Amino acid sequence: MKDSIIHLVRSNIKNLKPYQSARRIGGNGNIWLNANECPIPSLFRTNIESFNRYPECQPKNLILSYSEYVGLLSNQILVTRGADEGIELLIKAFCNPEKDAIICCPPTYDMYALNAKISNVEIKEIPTFKNTWKIDLENIQRNLNKVKLIYICNPNNPTGNIILRKDIINLLKITLGCALVVIDEAYIEFSSENSMVSCLKNYPHLIILRTLSKAFSLAGIRCGFTLANKEIIDILNKVISPYPIATIVADIAIQSLSKNAIKIMKDRVLKLNLNRNWLINELKQISLVKKIYNSHANYVLVKFHMFEKIFQKLWEKGIILRNQHHKMHLKECLRISIGSHVECSRFIEEIKILSKL
Ligand code: PMP
Repeated sequence: MKDSIIHLVRSNIKNLKPYQSARRIGGNGNIWLNANECPIPSLFRTNIESFNRYPECQPKNLILSYSEYVGLLSNQILVTRGADEGIELLIKAFCNPEKDAIICCPPTYDMYALNAKISNVEIKEIPTFKNTWKIDLENIQRNLNKVKLIYICNPNNPTGNIILRKDIINLLKITLGCALVVIDEAYIEFSSENSMVSCLKNYPHLIILRTLSKAFSLAGIRCGFTLANKEIIDILNKVISPYPIATIVADIAIQSLSKNAIKIMKDRVLKLNLNRNWLINELKQISLVKKIYNSHANYVLVKFHMFEKIFQKLWEKGIILRNQHHKMHLKECLRISIGSHVECSRFIEEIKILSKL
């Protein structure tokens, strides 16, 4: 077309494939086990009636509530539009396009690499070891040239494993003074003893990402946190947009961090962890299952015989899973988010029917 604007688009954006989020992929489901959301809603009301004023850029009371929850100072916390915004801001603040690089360790969450691509920042993929999913420290150390940020997801999405604490400490030691280590703890409440928050006091280059989307059951409000030492938070505050947190979001997020709401969140986590263990035990008895990966989060990765047929048949029945077959080391794997007990039972029922065909 003569008036096309396509020639104006940056060349790295022209052929970019957008993130294939669960919502984008769609489906006609009534059992959604594809986005690692909480199946149990948390119920809050808001009394805010007027919205004519802009919100604070960093709502003080929300930061205070999170600082109490996580045991850090207010100046060590940045509140963002989901943990996803934290991933993006770090690249914006620290990586020069066409000059610097990030490291990520596939199979892992796609947004680290996608944000680097959008910013024209080189991506060095250093895969984890197949099946143990341990990080390859030697290979990372050999590839630190130009690297500003190293993204590690813990527990890792989609594999569900924990990265050994001693491996993260070793990574922090080899990167001190040369690169920042970002630990994405989006799912940490399901395995809270593995958090690296206590290490912030010893490592000036450690950054931790958190979210209210998972254990707090608030994916719809889009609220996350970046935790780091003041120096890093001050830098991120330079590049964040003027009003990233809507008034209503801050109000609900503050309520979700009250003592009582945190207790409810912890009960919900216990329940979901029980559902996960139940689901894994059931899967172990099903002949279509080739391998179940150990999980410390609210999802489980499973390798199936006839994975495509299972995915498709369940999709047709409104049980929506996440296909991981295209990812490095994950041939024939599907990721199943942990739903309510009823949802997990329905899923098992259908898999059992398929295994008898
Ligand atoms: N990190 C990981 C590992 C995730 O799986 C997700 C959500 N899919 C995010 C970050 C983003 O979370 P949020 O909803 O807070 O943007």
